[in-house]
This record gives sequence, structure tokens and C-alpha cells, in this order.
Amino acid sequence: MTTLLAHRYRLGEIHEFRAEGADFIYLVTAGAIFAADGATRKVLDLLAQGELDHDDLVRALIGDGLSAVDAEGLVRELRLARAIEANQVVQGLTPAAPPADFPLQALVLNVTNQCNLACTYCYEFGADKIATPAGKPKYMTVETAKSSVDFLLGSAGRREAVHITFFGGETLMNFRLLRDVVLYADEAAAAAGKRITYSLTTNATLLTDEIIQFLSDHAVGVTVSMDGPPELQDARRVYKNGKGSYAVMEPRLRKLIAGHKTRAVTARVTLSAGVTDVKRIYQHLKHDIGFHEVGFAPVTSADEREYSLNGDAMTGVLADFEALADEWLDYALQGKVHGFTNVSETLSELIAGSNKSHPCGAGLGLLGVSPSGDLSPCHRFTDADTHTLGHISTGLDQEKREDFLTRGHVAAKYECTSCWARPLCAGGCHHEAFVRYGDTGHANLHYCDWIRQWTDRCLQIYGTLAQKNPEFLERFAERKGLQ
Ligand code: SF4
Ligand code: SF4
Repeated sequence: MTTLLAHRYRLGEIHEFRAEGADFIYLVTAGAIFAADGATRKVLDLLAQGELDHDDLVRALIGDGLSAVDAEGLVRELRLARAIEANQVVQGLTPAAPPADFPLQALVLNVTNQCNLACTYCYEFGADKIATPAGKPKYMTVETAKSSVDFLLGSAGRREAVHITFFGGETLMNFRLLRDVVLYADEAAAAAGKRITYSLTTNATLLTDEIIQFLSDHAVGVTVSMDGPPELQDARRVYKNGKGSYAVMEPRLRKLIAGHKTRAVTARVTLSAGVTDVKRIYQHLKHDIGFHEVGFAPVTSADEREYSLNGDAMTGVLADFEALADEWLDYALQGKVHGFTNVSETLSELIAGSNKSHPCGAGLGLLGVSPSGDLSPCHRFTDADTHTLGHISTGLDQEKREDFLTRGHVAAKYECTSCWARPLCAGGCHHEAFVRYGDTGHANLHYCDWIRQWTDRCLQIYGTLAQKNPEFLERFAERKGLQ
């Protein structure tokens, strides 16, 4: 056999998984998913035993019944997709220079760093807090907020749509500013020929009928920080006098869900020691309270704290996540939408073919603005002088931004460069890395197994739907704006 492709092949970076009795491969370098037919399976099995010359590989496929043309075609296809690689290819990632002028897409405005609650795990109060330098304002002024809107619109390049998230402290402690900013930004965006959308995060204790009406009228997406039924909510989400917040927020929350007609209302649960019963929390928030969607995240802590989740607790959380993921899949197979956002978000990224250079948009398309107008990579870094990336009045400090992005690039995180989950994880949250390891560019190695198992579970969900209800996947992608 003569061929111009005198390569010796080995397996590329792939993660194999099975769903509904079929084989799939997740192509790590492309962030793409392929169903593996019999011939592809044969190639993978052969190369799993060791490297093979091109001719030997093609010959084996012909011996298995493929025509010479089909065998050559398959090898070429797998090579182009990088499911297999020629052995002269150097494995690993090369750190790329961060984009110099990435257009801005979203700003998170920390409209106040004050809060009427004192949740015991909160990074605004707890050990994880990045110290607020003295002399910084507690509330953002309207002038700073308007300058932020102008900065966003002026830095958005050709983007047609931009987004503002309002964050705190407790966001609604500065509702008047929020209202003025939305009215100003609506006009400014229209004048700039752009669409603008809004969201906010709140503890819901200060909601009034007037606020709910405003949020609904202006289609402001609302995320409520809430940890579950009374005994779990009140375990750590307390007032400064130690009193739980459930009784105050619950009636307001019900009014919000009934009165907010234009956007989904989402719960965001912080899992901490003793607050890990994911299934029960989901049941309460979704079915008893009526949230449209519920998402969960483990608490961030620098070291062993009273509220930290240990390894056993995280194993239990994963088991509960998997049970809820099964329920999510059952719903999807029946064409119904389930509200467990941890599946929806991962699946969205898989469908979109995410292959991230950085774990999130922080410092890229997204920036945080502190009450003083300082810019930071995201809302979690605001008011920390060590992470300031400029000021709203003077613009971005490109050098600092570049340093942040270079250190946070997945290729700069040694362990991640050979991890199959890196297209979605990319090393994990910069802020959590800073809290845990003192370096925003450190990989979050404490949860790798967890991340890989969860990603694998979501890949299986994708594979099952691809076979049994592909129409659902299409509708899901459409709803999420992925097509
Ligand atoms: S942090 Fe861990 S799971 Fe995430 S990409 Fe890096 S090695 Fe993989
Ligand atoms: S750094 Fe962490 S908290 Fe900030 S946007 Fe990224 S994932 Fe979110």
C-alpha cells in the first residue's frame, strides 16, 4: 500500500463515554461530541493498545470490511477532528497571549457593599473576605453608575447586546440608584443602537410591591440567594442579631414569583456544612416556593471552617446532584423542562462546544465595578486594591488586565493541560483560587475529581438525549440561544 501520509498514529485527547449502550467520544481539543460507530470504535481500540503506522491502521480497517477509500477517509476525519494524532504533534497547550481589546459584554455593578444580613459564610463578612480598604464609599453614587453605563457602551465594540448585573452587599439597599440607572441605561443603549438587559442578585428581604413591579416592567432577571426550607435557610442566612431570615423573605418571595411576569426567578443555593440535602432543598424551592430554576454552589472557604464542606459532604452532594440529574433527564425524555440549573448550564456549554481559555468571562467580556468606581475582574474582587484593574473614570489598566488573564489562562495551569475536562472547567473560578491558594492563576485542584465526574454525567445526559429525544436537544439549544 502506498500513501503520502506516512504518519504514526496514537490516540488524541479524548474522553470516552457510553449512553444508552452506544459509544461516544468527547474531543477535548475541540470541545465537541461524536457518536463512535463500529469502525471508529475499532480505531480507538487499536490505538489504545499502542501507536500504529498509517498503513497498518488502514489495513486493519480494510480487514474489518471497510473499503480502502472509506478507511482512508475515516482516518483522515479522525485526524482532522484530533481524535487521533500523528506522533510528531507536540501534546499540550501553549499559553496564548490574552486578547488585547476584548469588547466588553457585561458589567457587574456592586451598588453597595452594605448588607442587612450577616450570613456566617459570606465573603463580605467571613474569613474569605478580601479586605475592604478604609475610606472607600459604602454606596455607589448615580454619577459613578452612569459613568459605568457609558463605559460599558463605549467598550462594547460591535456587540449588539450588553448586560448589567446589580450586585451587593444587598442590592436592594440601593434600589433608588438601581432604578435611576436602568432608566438612564435604557436611553443610552437605544442612542448607541444596542440592546441592554439586566439582572440582579438579592436576599429578597427588602422586596416591596413597588420594587417587584419595577423589576417586572423592566424585565430584570432576579436571582435570590436562598438556602432552602426554614431550618436550612436560618442555619447561616441570619440578621446581625442572629435571627433567621426565612420568615421575612418568604412572603416577599412569593409575591415576587407571582408578580414578576417577564423573566425567570432563580434561586441560588450556597451549600455549606449541614446544608447539603440538595434533593430536599430543590423540592422546597422549586415546588413549595415556586422558583423557576434552582442552582447550587458549594461555599468557598480558605481552609477548614465551621461551615466548610469536607470530602464526605462533597461526595454526598455529588450523589444528590446525580439523582437530580436523573430527574432532569426523565423530564427531558418526556419533553419537559426541569429547573435544576447545574445540568442546564453544563449541557448548554457542551452543546455550544465550549473550549475555554479561561474559566469565565472575568476580565474578558465581564468586569466588576465597586461602589467607588474601581474596576475589577468580577463582582467578587471588588473593593480589593490588590485586584483593581483600573477605574471607571480612567478606564482599564491594560497591563494589569493582561497579567490577570495570562496567569488565569488554562495553558498556564500545569495540571489542567492534560485534563479532559478543561474545555469546560479551565481551572475553575479565579476568586476561589485566590481564596484557596492565594493566586488567581492557580487551578482549583481540590475539586478535580468532582468536576470530572459531573462533566461525565452531563455528557451521558447529552448522549442519551441525542439518541432518544434529539428534538429536545434542538429545542433546548434554541431556547438558550445556542443556535
Ligand atoms: S482544575 Fe482540575 S478538573 Fe479543572 S481543568 Fe484543571 S485539572 Fe481539570
Ligand atoms: S472569577 Fe469566579 S466568581 Fe468571578 S465571574 Fe469567574 S467564576 Fe464567577
